[in-house]
Amino acid sequence: MKCEAVQDLLADYSVNGLDDETQRRLEVHLSVCSHCTYELELLWRVVSFVESAPQKSPPPGLWEGIESHIRRNSEKMEREVGTKR
Ligand SMILES: [Zn+2]
Repeated sequence: MKCEAVQDLLADYSVNGLDDETQRRLEVHLSVCSHCTYELELLWRVVSFVESAPQKSPPPGLWEGIESHIRRNSEKMEREVGTKR
């Protein structure tokens, strides 16, 4: 599983929204990839913040900020890793 694919799934994973097989493959990747583990920790922080908030909607711009943060990081990583498929 590529980091890019994992990061697409992290939001679903953080709220237990994945099927068993996908979740297992994602966890295998997380066990060897500190970058994706870090992204997951960021997401968990957001999820627990949202769940503990009195209203159920996150502040405007929160998800956009996280998404652009993740996108920046994966672009950087693609440059470092190259374009192997
Ligand atoms: Zn990764």
